[in-house]
Amino acid sequence: MYLALGSNLGDRAAHLAHARARLDALPGVRVAAASPVEETAPLGPAGQDPYLNQMLALRTTLEPEALLDACLAVEAERGRDRAASPRWGARTLDLDVVLFGARRVATPRLRVPHPELPNRDFWHRGLAALGVDWREALAAVPA
Ligand code: ATP
Ligand code: CA
Ligand code: CA
Repeated sequence: MYLALGSNLGDRAAHLAHARARLDALPGVRVAAASPVEETAPLGPAGQDPYLNQMLALRTTLEPEALLDACLAVEAERGRDRAASPRWGARTLDLDVVLFGARRVATPRLRVPHPELPNRDFWHRGLAALGVDWREALAAVPA
């Protein structure tokens, strides 16, 4: 599966490095590959600092919801506080499940493929760096 990392608060590179190491250390999760880190202009509310973004290829035996829970826990370890910041506001660490093989998930907590995938160029570039054509990957997911 493919996981998008983002950070625009504090020591951004350290937050990304923490996420890579913690995910790789989880039982049933392996970081198989990582795209180059790319700096991007912020989405959402104006006046935010730029992001560092990275795409990871993970191999996992976890179910998608269990992987989401693990991601939310790793975000919290880096001091991510959803209450303190609006949606798309500044954050120390953001982990988004972009693709999970050819699976589709649509629950109140998790939507996969991530609905913003068609709209985020930096995710397309990150996936391309990992050898993935986002259009082909999306086309492989049953409706
Ligand atoms: P966006 O998802 O548009 O990038 P965001 O990352 O700022 O926005 P968050 O505040 O980090 O949004 O997440 C809000 C909720 O989105 C999470 O608590 C999670 O339950 C839910 N969610 C739904 N689909 C996904 C997904 N594919 N990956 C991560 N979280 C998801
Ligand atoms: Ca996000
Ligand atoms: Ca998120």
